[in-house]
Amino acid sequence: MSLRARFFALAGCLILSAGAGYLYFERADPRLAHLRSLELPEDGLPLFRFLLREIPDVVDSVPCSCCGEMLSACYEGKCPPTCKPCNDEGRDIFAWFSQGKSLAEINRLVVEKYILKKR
Ligand SMILES: [Zn+2]
Repeated sequence: MSLRARFFALAGCLILSAGAGYLYFERADPRLAHLRSLELPEDGLPLFRFLLREIPDVVDSVPCSCCGEMLSACYEGKCPPTCKPCNDEGRDIFAWFSQGKSLAEINRLVVEKYILKKR
């Protein structure tokens, strides 16, 4: 193989593997890619509705630091939309989940940041 042919073979391999890596990443987690592309609305009802729609499974398995219910119940009316910790907690869990953290990890972080601090 000539030097030039080797060069093109190598370049071709690199392009193919970069493309495959990109496809793999996109396919591996299209949901996270989608979530990362979203912009969060303002605090209050718009944020509550957004979180219920985009990450229903997450708000359903993380407790609210104010009322002790799951955040989903809280966002459906248990806590007032003006409640600051409920809004902050929602923004945090959205960010953590879209970074790829597991539900167990998110729960641990919520307890550390919101629930232990209150006591
Ligand atoms: Zn609540």
